[in-house]
Amino acid sequence: MTFKDFNFKENLQKAIDEAGFKEPSPIQIDAIPHILLGKDMVGQAHTGTGKTAAFGLPVLNQLTGKNAEAVVIVPTRELAMQVSDELFKFGKFLGINTATVYGGQSYSRQLKLMETASVIVATPGRFLDLLKNGHIKIKPRFVILDEADEMLDMGFLDDIKEIFTYLPETRQTLLFSATMPTAIKNLAKTILKEPEFVTITKADVTNKNITQTFYVVDERERDDALIRLFDYKNPKKSIIFCRTKKDVDRLSTFLISQGFMAKSLHGDMEQKQREEAIKAFKTSKLEILIATDVAARGLDVNDVTHVFNYHLPFDGESYVHRIGRTGRAGKEGVAISIVTPHEFRTLQRIEKTIGTKLESKVVPNISTVKQ
Ligand code: ADP
Ligand code: MG
Repeated sequence: MTFKDFNFKENLQKAIDEAGFKEPSPIQIDAIPHILLGKDMVGQAHTGTGKTAAFGLPVLNQLTGKNAEAVVIVPTRELAMQVSDELFKFGKFLGINTATVYGGQSYSRQLKLMETASVIVATPGRFLDLLKNGHIKIKPRFVILDEADEMLDMGFLDDIKEIFTYLPETRQTLLFSATMPTAIKNLAKTILKEPEFVTITKADVTNKNITQTFYVVDERERDDALIRLFDYKNPKKSIIFCRTKKDVDRLSTFLISQGFMAKSLHGDMEQKQREEAIKAFKTSKLEILIATDVAARGLDVNDVTHVFNYHLPFDGESYVHRIGRTGRAGKEGVAISIVTPHEFRTLQRIEKTIGTKLESKVVPNISTVKQ
C-alpha cells in the first residue's frame, strides 16, 4: 500500500512525496478512508505512529481554502506549533495556510493570522477565550481533537465541551488519542455522530526496539547515579524526565556544572526559551533535554537515543509516553529509570500497565567502567 492508493489531489501527493513519506502507517491506512468518506471517527494509536497525517492528509484533501474550514485542538503550545508546521508542509502546494493559536501571544496577531488561514491549530484555553469574547465567529467543516487523552489529563474537559457549543452542528468531528480512558469515550459520545472506531492495538512497548532497565539507588544518590550512567552509556541524544519544574532546573544547573550540554524544558519558561531549547535539541546542537511530562508532550524528535527517568512518573501511561520518545522510526532506543525504594509501588504499577517486569541493574562503578 502506498499513499497513491488514496488518490489524493495532485498537489497534496506532491507534498507527501517531498516529505519523503512512502508507505502509510497502520493508523493512516485505517483512518484515512473513513475521513475521506466524511465520517466522524475516533482513532487510537500510540505515540509516534503518525496520527497527525492520519487526520491531516484526508482533511487537507477536502479543503477549498475558505477561512477557518478546519480547526485542530491540541493540548500544548509546542504541539500546536508542531501540528501547524506539519499541516502547512502538506498543504502548501494546495495553497492552504495554517494559523496557530495559543495563550501568551497577542490577540491581534492571532486574529490577523486567522483571517487568512483555512486551518486553525489551537490550544483549548485560548481558543475558547477567543470564541467567548466574540473575537471570532467561525463555521469549520472539520473539527479535530488531537491527543485528546492529554487534554483531559490537563483538565481541559470543560473547556472542550464549551468550545463545541460555539461550533456548527453540521461538521465532521475527529478525535485522536494515544489511550482511550472512559472519560474520552464519554466525550466522544457527546460530540461525535455515529463515529467509526479505529484502534491500532498498542504495540506492546516491549515489542518496540526499546531496552528498558532500572537502577535502584538511595534518594541522595540520584545525581551520582545519573552521572555514572551517562559516563557508562555515552548517550548521543537524551531526554531526562523529572517530576517538577524545580527539579528540572536544579538538575539542569548541576549537569551543566559537570560539563554536559543540557537545557531545561518546562512550562514556567518563556515561550521563546522553550522554542530555542526544542530547536537546539532537534538540530542536535544540544545533547540533553531535561523536561517535565507536560512540556515534553508530543515532542516530535526522531533520533532520541536514551530516555532517562530521573524520577519515575506516577502512572504507566506517562511511562509509556516518556519512553516512546526513543526507539522511533525503527531505531534502537534505551530507557533507563532511576528508582528509589520509595518508588517501588509506583514501579509495580508501571509494570502492570506495560505488562512486563523491568530488568533491574546495578549502577556501574565508574572507576571499573573506565578502565
Ligand atoms: P503521533 O501523533 O501518533 O504521536 P506523529 O503524527 O507526530 O505521531 O508522527 C510521528 C513522526 O512520524 C513524525 O515525524 C511524522 O512526520 C512521521 N510520520 C508519520 N507518518 C509517516 C509515514 N507514513 N511515513 C514516514 N514518516 C511518517
Ligand atoms: Mg500526535
